[in-house]
Amino acid sequence: MQIVGVIGAGQMGVGIAQTAAQTGHKVLLSDVSLTRAEQGKAGIGKALVRLVAKEKMSEGQAGEVLDAITPVADIAPMAQADIIIEAATEREDIKLKIFESTASVLGADAVLATNTSSLSITRMSRSAPDQGRFIGIHFFNPVPVMPLVEVIPGLATRPDITARTRAFGEKLGKTVVLAQDDPGFVVNRIFVPFINEAIFVLGNGTGSIADIDAGVKLGLAHPMGPLELADFIGLDTLYEIMMVYLRTTGDSKYRPAPLLQKYVEAGWYGRKTGRGFYDYAGEKPVPTR
Ligand code: NAD
Repeated sequence: MQIVGVIGAGQMGVGIAQTAAQTGHKVLLSDVSLTRAEQGKAGIGKALVRLVAKEKMSEGQAGEVLDAITPVADIAPMAQADIIIEAATEREDIKLKIFESTASVLGADAVLATNTSSLSITRMSRSAPDQGRFIGIHFFNPVPVMPLVEVIPGLATRPDITARTRAFGEKLGKTVVLAQDDPGFVVNRIFVPFINEAIFVLGNGTGSIADIDAGVKLGLAHPMGPLELADFIGLDTLYEIMMVYLRTTGDSKYRPAPLLQKYVEAGWYGRKTGRGFYDYAGEKPVPTR
């Protein structure tokens, strides 16, 4: 049985911990404090109760999954881990400190992986105890449900570490795709500009909000329309991601749609501010254009 260390017990960290425990791993889960790590485990407990209620898992199995997850006060116990996955806040300064702190605990043969969505694996590998054993493993939200994992070797990642991380992703029951260390990796690099294009289409007056979302849902069989998804992700976040692509590549095809910029300037960030392309004041979201 493999031991998995997960650093960061937020929405992604707990999803990774749950998935690893469900697939027969022992998990050590940490956050900024033991209390936060315990809260993370409590959240997993609630998710498992829902799975039992839906008869997707027996009570016994749920108990075993929960028993396999140990919240820890700090990363010292992760010295036993075969792989440590960092899933802390998306800030490079925080992540670099975490990688540096693993120097005293990372086992001689263990992998150190990051779940970053946007930061350079190669650049961050310089803060890892061993650049060759540092790699990106990008999960999708919610982790127990989404069947994909991207594995992203940095320039210095050893090929055997890439192979092991891939095998680990498959052991989690995921399909693994390999991505190079470019901004957005594979999926977000395609999908974020796609959403940006939908905002260009809206700004040009080619279609209304309702028609763009209905068109993509029904015409392309997407579960959500791009504009409702934009509101869900946060328009400020989307704008920042496009700016990263634009700055890194220098290619004007990544410029944020002018209407996206305007909405961000207005403070209309989407669901989290109560208004984006939809208005969320009432019971059902209402298109604003
Ligand atoms: P989140 O805010 O839900 O959780 C982040 C957690 O990290 C918090 O519990 C926080 O207390 C903890 N943390 C902060 N500093 C820490 C430290 N020094 N040591 C330990 N824990 C620390 O964020 P999230 O959505 O779970 O995102 C986590 C990572 O996963 C980010 O890198 C993000 O880019 C990436 N990611 C997110 C998504 C998504 O859809 N949310 C998808 C793929 C990847």
